[in-house]
This record gives sequence, C-alpha cells and structure tokens, in this order.
Amino acid sequence: MAKNASRVALVTGGSRGIGRATVERLARDGFDVAFCYQSNEAAALELEKAVTETGVRVLSRRTDVRDADAVRALVAETEQTLGPIGVAVTAAGITRDNPLLLMKDDEWHDVLDVNLDGVYHVCRSVVFGMMKRKSGVIVNISSVAGVYGNATQSNYSASKAGIIGFSRALAKEVGRYGIRANVVAPGFIDTDMTSVLTGQVKDKALESVPLGRLGRAEEVADLVSYLVSDRAAYVTGSVVQIDGGITI
Ligand code: NAP
Repeated sequence: MAKNASRVALVTGGSRGIGRATVERLARDGFDVAFCYQSNEAAALELEKAVTETGVRVLSRRTDVRDADAVRALVAETEQTLGPIGVAVTAAGITRDNPLLLMKDDEWHDVLDVNLDGVYHVCRSVVFGMMKRKSGVIVNISSVAGVYGNATQSNYSASKAGIIGFSRALAKEVGRYGIRANVVAPGFIDTDMTSVLTGQVKDKALESVPLGRLGRAEEVADLVSYLVSDRAAYVTGSVVQIDGGITI
C-alpha cells in the first residue's frame, strides 16, 4: 500500500467536540488542516487562530455538509490553498432523539442528511483526487449506536450504521488505488452532544461503562491520528470502537 505523502487534512465538524480535538491533534502531527462547521463561527475562528499559532496552515469555512455543491467548493478551495487532500475525517454529526412512534419526518431527515449524506458528499468530493494520486486516508466517525442501535435513536442509529456500510464498500472500491477507509465508533464521549443529556440518563449510561467514565474527545482524536498514519498502513474497512467497554 502506498504511503500517504500529502500532509493536508480536511475535517468536518471541526469547530467543536471530536472534530475540534481531531483538528488540534492532526495539526500537532504536522498536517495543514482545513475544517468546516455549520454555524459556530466564534468557536471556529478561535480554533483557527490557536492552531495557526502552532505553525501549521489552517483554513476554516462555514460549510453545511448537507450541501453537495458547498462541500465540492470547500474541497476545491482547500486543495488550491493548502494542497492535495491526503486525509479526510468526517466528524460533523447531529442527534434528534425521539421514540419511533413520536419521530417527526424532519427529525428523521435532518439526521440522515447531515450524518450520512454529509459523509457521502465529502468522500465523493475527495476520492477522485486521492485516486489520481494513488494515496489517501478517510476516517468516518460513526457511533456504537450504528453497530448495536440505541432506543430513541432510530434515525441516528440508521445514519451511523449507514456510515459503516458505506465506508466498507468504499474501502473495497478504492483499496487498489492506495486509499484506506476506516470507521471510528465512539461510545459516550464528553462533548456538547452528550452535555444535553440529563444527569439521570448519564448516570445510567455510566453504570454500563466498565471504565466508569465518559471518554474524552482527545482520546478519539488519538485513534484518528493512528488510523491516518502509516502505522495503520494495513488497516482498512475496519470499524474501531472506542467506548470504555460499554458494548462488552
Ligand atoms: P458536537 O460537539 O455537537 O459537534 C458537532 C460538530 O458538527 C460541530 O462542529 C458542528 O458545527 C458540526 N456540524 C453539525 N451539523 C453540521 C452540518 N450540517 N454541516 C457542517 N458541520 C456541522 O458533536 P461531537 O460529540 O463532537 O460529535 C462528533 C461526531 O462524533 C458526530 O458525528 C457524532 O455523531 C459522533 N459521536 C459522538 C459521540 C459522543 O458521545 N459525543 C458518540 C458517538 C459518535 P457548529 O459548531 O457550527 O454547530
């Protein structure tokens, strides 16, 4: 398998949480990083400034991953400004929880549009360049919900299961071009996404975590850092869980 020569990474959902920790981690690994977000410009600009000061080039853009044209434009601008994208990490994601009987069509479609269509738009946009260069690494962020399902999260679980099927199909398609595609499936990670859960829900979830605590976004970013590195040169099509043992 070809070594990944490009040191340019694209991260979606980079303004907060797991995406933000990934931007910081990949910058520490020496990548120039472009990242996108949906609306939180203040967080994005603060991150862009902080990471730029570490000596790498950073580009942040408000780009809705639901919008295929906007994602294509982000990829084109990144490649013009920073160079060919060697690494793509899709961390943009949302939840809209409800039991299926109460699920509104909007809640279903919003989650599928961001979490699954967003991944499709990004991978579709970066993969041709990677194929031409015969090198590239994609890491899509799924969830343990996509493997085991979560009550009240049929929309989210479907989107995250879709990411797994998508990524494995992609890994089979593009392996011969020197491109790897893997999935990270986190359990409960301490970010804004889980901070909205009530104390009771969190306590109950924590009871099922053998390691007895929430994971940290930086721990997920460390795993991404490994997967995009040449240390993982023979790893593709894998779904790597990082969940404190909650699924044992
Ligand atoms: P988070 O803290 O809520 O951050 C979500 C990020 O996604 C933000 O940067 C947000 O941008 C961005 N985003 C949302 N919708 C977007 C859109 N349409 N277009 C572009 N960017 C968009 O979430 P997180 O906890 O870090 O989660 C990151 C990923 O890990 C998600 O895919 C999530 O499903 C997955 N995950 C999380 C956990 C967990 O326990 N936290 C567990 C398993 C999987 P703004 O800042 O502009 O809103």
